[in-house]
Amino acid sequence: MSLDLPILNVPSAGSPTALPCALDLDLQGLGAVFGSLGEPRYRARQVFRALHQRGAASWDECSELPTPLRRALADRFRVRSGETVAQARSEDGTRKRLVRLADGQEIETVAIPATSPRGARRLSVCVSTQAGCAMACTFCATGSMGFARHLTTGEIVDQVYGFGRDGGARPTHVVFMGMGEPLANYAATVAAIRLLCHLDGAGLSQRRITVSTSGLVPEIRALAEESLEVTLAISLHAPDDAVRSELMPINRRYSLGELIPAATAYGERTGRRVSYEYIMLDGVNDRPDQADRLAALLPKRLSHVNLIPYNWTDAAYQASPPARAREFRDRLTRAGLSATIRASRGRDIAAACGQLKAENRCRVSPSPSGRGLG
Ligand code: SAH
Ligand code: SF4
Repeated sequence: MSLDLPILNVPSAGSPTALPCALDLDLQGLGAVFGSLGEPRYRARQVFRALHQRGAASWDECSELPTPLRRALADRFRVRSGETVAQARSEDGTRKRLVRLADGQEIETVAIPATSPRGARRLSVCVSTQAGCAMACTFCATGSMGFARHLTTGEIVDQVYGFGRDGGARPTHVVFMGMGEPLANYAATVAAIRLLCHLDGAGLSQRRITVSTSGLVPEIRALAEESLEVTLAISLHAPDDAVRSELMPINRRYSLGELIPAATAYGERTGRRVSYEYIMLDGVNDRPDQADRLAALLPKRLSHVNLIPYNWTDAAYQASPPARAREFRDRLTRAGLSATIRASRGRDIAAACGQLKAENRCRVSPSPSGRGLG
């Protein structure tokens, strides 16, 4: 039987032998599947809950379904988007996984345990949205790999469910800060947010989700119109166009003069404070006059600056000395900006921001179909 399935998005380089993944279907899509199988529609919600709320790893685990139906589904769909082929645990509790997807692409995903200021336990999962990245930021290990392909919605959400399945604490927060540029894979990113927050699914609060972008202005403006309450993080890293264009080629397409108004509009539209991420690079962007320029660039309301220690990659940068980072932060706070220095997690297993690389395993196509810089 051939099914006309409303799959949210499909891999550009999928293996012909791999079955479609059920996690790529939303509730409506599952409804269409059960309709075409002659099954009652309530089955769709049952299966949606089993996959997205319980994180079932196989059709056999969907014990609420009759066995013949489980078999029929197993003939048509996979439940998992990929398999964990390696994992590492940092001395600070951060866990990193290398996941092999159905077509052989490999991505990294990270879970970071923490305690909130009020003592609640948190588990943040840092998800990848692409295999590789086309943005070529000079300080980032993922950027040095090039772009292979977009991830599907199911491949994004399954990174979160994967950590929930291993018997420990369930993820409470999701940050789109792994490999890739989430807003270059816009439809899958937004669909993944909706799945993660679905009340019949993982039921995460939108306020516990952060989407980080190198600065795709049209997509930031589109995200502001999605009626979502997710936090937007802008990877800024420089207070002027000359330095930012050196570090981040995307700045040649969308300069600060366009980016900051788009980010400000996002904050105003959603009422959410925008995070500005700023890696402290020794002798590049950490002078006192650059702090003053940054303070003049950003609105004081609904902005927060995260000063990030540079995590080692193959690039020829050095981290700013801690005293200089503190002075930089103090200049920002004296000027009325909210600013903190962020602790790096998982560095000993190369799981910190910017270090995700899937060591040479990500197969890069010669002509990226993703959104590059052109
Ligand atoms: N592509 C998106 C999200 C993934 S990168 C973006 O660029 O925002 C997640 C964060 O890691 C970004 O803020 C990025 O600037 C930061 N990052 C990249 N390389 C880093 C490095 N070597 N040290 C510290 N942070 C880094
Ligand atoms: Fe891509 Fe973000 Fe790395 Fe830049 S910092 S190369 S946008 S993953």
